[in-house]
Amino acid sequence: MNWYLLLFFSVFCISTQSTDELIYESNEAISFGKLNERLSRLDSLPTYIQNEGATEPPIDITGHNNVVEYLDQIFDGNYQYTAAGYDFPVGKPNGRGYYVAQKFMQSGHLGDDFNSVKGGNSDLGHPIYAIASGVIVFSKDIGGGWGKTIRIMHKNLDDTYTESLYSHCDQIDVKYGQFVKKGDKIGTIGTANGQYFAHLHLEIRTEINLPLGRGYSKSPDGFVSPTLYIRNHRPRW
Ligand SMILES: [Zn+2]
Repeated sequence: MNWYLLLFFSVFCISTQSTDELIYESNEAISFGKLNERLSRLDSLPTYIQNEGATEPPIDITGHNNVVEYLDQIFDGNYQYTAAGYDFPVGKPNGRGYYVAQKFMQSGHLGDDFNSVKGGNSDLGHPIYAIASGVIVFSKDIGGGWGKTIRIMHKNLDDTYTESLYSHCDQIDVKYGQFVKKGDKIGTIGTANGQYFAHLHLEIRTEINLPLGRGYSKSPDGFVSPTLYIRNHRPRW
């Protein structure tokens, strides 16, 4: 066997495998060696700096008994924005071309960091999509370790609420109070003003309307693995 031919064939196989799978096989993807630069520079701050606007819950429930009562009123008459399923926020809808560089609860990380398989800043400016239908409850550049950050409240078919958070954006395309549909472009992937290689920090929270927090915690209480949650809540039709 000609070794050059074997090498060529191996490279050919690797480069033609489905990138849909890469999101779930991040360790394999990383070991190819062309993605070296990332981990040490992704979210390298020990905790995100708390900034003005980061310490308050996004929804002011003054005059309401609780946040669910308030949200039920918001969604009343807007049933078309109920979340009937969840997609990936990049490489729509299956995360094609992306992998998770830093996983949920890795070093206390409260989200998944989505990065292009091409590494570096190759995904800078690429679209970020709403993972499910819902209403925008936060849309601000708060600087610090967060940068431009978006939060969406999702009302599920079983009347529970789930919240998604997208951070380090280069650009934000949505406003507070705006309804969005699953797959709508809400912004673009950024670097939190040059602090990291471009990537998307995505959190999914089952405890809603918490303050922004610090991005890292010893306890995952109120937070779930975004990749697992999305995989377990794909649209049925
Ligand atoms: Zn992150």
